[in-house]
Amino acid sequence: MKSETYSTDVCIVGGGPAGIVLGYLLARSGVQVIVLEKHADFLRDFRGDTVHPSTLEILQECGLSTKFDALPQNRIQDAAIHVGDETLPLVDYRGLKPFDYLALVPQWDLLNLLADEASRFETFRLCVEHEVTELLFENGTAVGAKAKMNNGTAEIRAALIVGCDGRRSTVRKSTDLKVLDIGAPMDALWFRVPREPTDPSGLEAILRAGHIMVMINRGDYWQIAYVVPKGSGSQLRQRPIAEFQQRVAALASMLEKRSQSIASWDDVKTLVVGVDRLECWTAPGVLVIGDAAHTMSPIGGVGINLAVQDAVAAANIIAEAFHAHRPLDHTVLSKVQRRREWPTRLIQSMQLIAQKRVISSVLEDSGDPPRIPRLLRWITRFRWARNIPARIIGYGFRREHVNAKNFRF
Ligand SMILES: Cc1cc2nc3c(=O)[nH]c(=O)nc-3n(C[C@H](O)[C@H](O)[C@H](O)COP(=O)(O)OP(=O)(O)OC[C@H]3O[C@@H](n4cnc5c(N)ncnc54)[C@H](O)[C@@H]3O)c2cc1C
Repeated sequence: MKSETYSTDVCIVGGGPAGIVLGYLLARSGVQVIVLEKHADFLRDFRGDTVHPSTLEILQECGLSTKFDALPQNRIQDAAIHVGDETLPLVDYRGLKPFDYLALVPQWDLLNLLADEASRFETFRLCVEHEVTELLFENGTAVGAKAKMNNGTAEIRAALIVGCDGRRSTVRKSTDLKVLDIGAPMDALWFRVPREPTDPSGLEAILRAGHIMVMINRGDYWQIAYVVPKGSGSQLRQRPIAEFQQRVAALASMLEKRSQSIASWDDVKTLVVGVDRLECWTAPGVLVIGDAAHTMSPIGGVGINLAVQDAVAAANIIAEAFHAHRPLDHTVLSKVQRRREWPTRLIQSMQLIAQKRVISSVLEDSGDPPRIPRLLRWITRFRWARNIPARIIGYGFRREHVNAKNFRF
């Protein structure tokens, strides 16, 4: 069994959108960075694929737009929801600046692009198959992390540990940071069904009495989320798969034959939806960002957006302190929470309203077709009104910008 020890300025736990963007920006700013990722690669089926205008803007600020544009992608300018037999155009990006579309790109392509770019800097190191099991403390301050590898263990010593390890964060557990559990009324069953070139090209959200289904275009297949009341997924799984195939076909008639490609329940993964946030995003020697600091509801598909914005804010603050030779202590690190907490809270509050007013009432299955709130109906009437949800989903609140003055490469 191998036992390795590395040391670095910043050790980032987790190579998702938050960790890879932060790693890229810090490395480019001349800060030595190690990103520890437990998986061998970024190839994971059940992850968000939405690259929002705010992230497109960050890629542009980093000079990566041309490379990003070369990735296979679908661009969406509007999205509609299907409520009963009605189709309601609800989101419209046209007219928004500087980007008037949302790009659907497999998350692994985006992460591979950023990791490849970061590897050009000698200050960047990505260690895959390194699962952090615990943090190392000295006098109550985190001074490193211990990781499990296939063939041994590694100890990584660092001036700062950043927890970017998602909703089941080991870093936040190791630091005993207090979590405010907000909760969600639903879970989601994820699966894929083949897509035909003549199918609609973007995102499809279908709401019928007792049923919600969201379909994401992934080229030759649909990635589909079938939303169920919290905890009820296991009951559904007791039923024959043919029943589930019929439910899917009943919601999207174009899938009538193709729903049979869901051959067994093994093809269906359950996502336990949660909404929470940390009261404090820092502990001595530790900063936590992205889903690890605030797990978002899937409503609006904004989790990646917020994770990337957190990473940009954190990189700006850490790199500036690093170049000014200031210690990465609570005074510096708490600035990240001060910048990013209220945009997060605002979006979570909106998600909670949607969870209560729309999701819960549709899933109640009263037998009646879902009622469309008056505000939603009004929004669908005018393009400028449809721009409002597009701006909130696409750009969020308090847009972050890369501080290129920190760049050394
Ligand atoms: C099924 C699903 C669909 C989603 N769809 C969308 C969508 O369409 N749009 C959207 O914006 N958001 C979506 N989200 C949410 C979005 O994926 C997250 O909000 C976003 O990825 C958060 O980024 P992150 O970097 O903070 O965390 P994550 O993406 O969760 O990344 C955490 C990383 O840390 C690694 N890791 C975890 N523990 C350890 C450890 N102990 N040691 C080392 N590495 C570790 C994980 O392997 C992972 O790579 C979806 C989420 C799910 C689960």
